[in-house]
Amino acid sequence: VTKDILNALGACVGAANVLSGHTDRSAYDLDAMGKYPGHSLAVVRPADTGEVSGVLKIASAHNLAVVPQGGNTGLTGASVPDASASQIVLSLARMNKIRDIDAKTRVARVEAGVVLQSLHEAAQMQDLIFPLFFGARGSAMIGGVLSTNAGGSNVLRYGNARALVLGIEVVLADGRIMNLMSELYKDNSGYDLRDLFIGAEGTLGVITGAVLKLYPRPRAYATALMSLNTLPDALDLLTELQDLTGNAVEAFEFMPANYFDDYARRFADRKMPLSAPGPVNILVEIGATSAALARTDKSGRAVVHTLLEEALSARLEAGRISDATIAQNESQRAALWHCRECAFELATMHGAMVDHDISVPPAAVETFLAKMPARLQPLAPDARVSVIAHLGDGNLHYSVQPKGCARGVPDALADKITEAVEDLVQSLAGSFSAEHGIGRSKRATMARRKDKTALEVMRTLKTALDPQCILNPGKLLP
Ligand SMILES: Cc1cc2nc3c(=O)[nH]c(=O)nc-3n(C[C@H](O)[C@H](O)[C@H](O)COP(=O)(O)OP(=O)(O)OC[C@H]3O[C@@H](n4cnc5c(N)ncnc54)[C@H](O)[C@@H]3O)c2cc1C
Repeated sequence: VTKDILNALGACVGAANVLSGHTDRSAYDLDAMGKYPGHSLAVVRPADTGEVSGVLKIASAHNLAVVPQGGNTGLTGASVPDASASQIVLSLARMNKIRDIDAKTRVARVEAGVVLQSLHEAAQMQDLIFPLFFGARGSAMIGGVLSTNAGGSNVLRYGNARALVLGIEVVLADGRIMNLMSELYKDNSGYDLRDLFIGAEGTLGVITGAVLKLYPRPRAYATALMSLNTLPDALDLLTELQDLTGNAVEAFEFMPANYFDDYARRFADRKMPLSAPGPVNILVEIGATSAALARTDKSGRAVVHTLLEEALSARLEAGRISDATIAQNESQRAALWHCRECAFELATMHGAMVDHDISVPPAAVETFLAKMPARLQPLAPDARVSVIAHLGDGNLHYSVQPKGCARGVPDALADKITEAVEDLVQSLAGSFSAEHGIGRSKRATMARRKDKTALEVMRTLKTALDPQCILNPGKLLP
C-alpha cells in the first residue's frame, strides 16, 4: 500500500518532489526547538494549488494524515509529523511566488510558501511594508504565519497576522479548492470563513494563497533603548508617545536586567547599548508615516526623532529614566534591534527551560512578574527566570529553569510550573497562548483552561471540515 501511495503522490507532484529517504526528510521531521523528533512517511512538495488539491485527494482516499509545513519555525511542535512513519509532510516551500504587488491599492497577492522576508523585500521596492516582523522572518512562510496567526514586535500598531489579511485560498481535506482571494475591506456575505482558517494550525485546511495588506514605509524612524525603574512608568511613557505621535509607536519591548547580563556574556565583542541596564529596559520604535512626523526640523533631524528625544530628556531630568540611547543612524538602529532580536539565542544558551507564551492586559504585567516568584519558590526554589515581553500588547515570554535542570526539566515538574504560571495568568484575565499557538505543547492546557463550549464548537467544526481527521491530527485540539 505504501508503495502505491508514494507512486500516486509522485504522479501528482513529480517523483523528485516526494522525499522518502531519511536524509531528505530529516530537516522536515524535526521542529525548530528540537523537541519533537518525528518520522514521516514522505515529504511531498507540490508546485501549485492544483497539486495540493491532488495530494489531499490521494490522502483522503487512503486515510493518510497530512502535516502542512511552511518554514518549520513554529515553536509548539505543530509543524512536524509524529514518529509513526505513517504521516506525510506537505511542504509549501515550492509555492513561493509573489503573484503581484499593487502599490496603488497597497495589496500583495502571494502564494503560501513565500518567505516573510522575501515579501518584506518586495514591498520595500515599492516603498511599502508588510508590517509583521519577528526573528524567524528569514524562514517563516506566509502560510505558516497565517496558520499560527503570528504576532511579533509590531502588533501594537498593525495588529497580528489576522489583521493583515484580506483574502485567502484554501484547499480542504477532500481536495476541494475554496477561493476567498478577495481584496474587499467589507464583505458580509455569510460566515467569516477566512478568519476560521487563520490560526487553525493546518487542522482545517491548507492555505495556498493570500491577499495581504501593505502599509506605507515609515519615512523616518525614532528608535531608543532606555532604562526605567518601573513598568507603570514605562506604560505611562508609551501613552505619552502615542499621544505625541498619533499612535505611531511601532514597538515597545521590555527586557529585564538579567537579559543584558546574558547579552554581555554572549556578545562580549559588542558595545553594550546601555551603561547600566536597570530593572525595566525598553526598546521603543516610532515610525513616521505622516509627512508631519518625517519632516526635518531646525535640528536637522526628523520631527519624530526630536519628539522622542524631548520626551526622554524630560524624564531623564525628572529621574524617571536612568539611562537612554537614541539611534542616530541606521546602523545604530540595527544595533539596538540586535539586542532584542537575539532573544531566542539568549533564551536557549542556558539549556532546557519551561517556556510560556502568555498575555495579560499590559497594566497587569507588573503584577504578574511581582507575584510569580513566590509561586515558583515552593516548586522550584531559586529557579532561573528569563523574561522578554512585547509590553505594548501585554505578551510575555516567561521561561523558567529549575536549579540543576539545564539538561532537561522532568515532565511532572514542568507541568507544575506551567500550572502555576497559568493559574496566575487566568486570575489576571490573560491568555495561556498569546502568539505561538497551541500545537502539541499546549494541548493539555487547552483541555484544562479553554471554555468547554468553545472546545465543543471547535470539535464540531473540525469534524465537519475534516471528518476523517487527516489534517494535522494530534495538534491544537485536546
Ligand atoms: C527565532 C524565532 C522567533 C520567533 N518569533 C516569533 C514572534 O515574535 N511572534 C510569533 O508569533 N512567532 C514567532 N516565532 C514562531 C514562528 O516563527 C511562527 O509561528 C511562524 O509564523 C511560523 O511560520 P512557518 O512558516 O515556519 O510555519 P511552520 O512552523 O511550518 O508551521 C506552523 C503551523 O502552521 C501550519 N501550516 C504551515 N503552513 C501552512 C499552510 N500553508 N496551510 C495550513 N497550515 C499551515 C503547520 O501545520 C503548523 O501547524 C518565532 C520562531 C523562532 C524560531
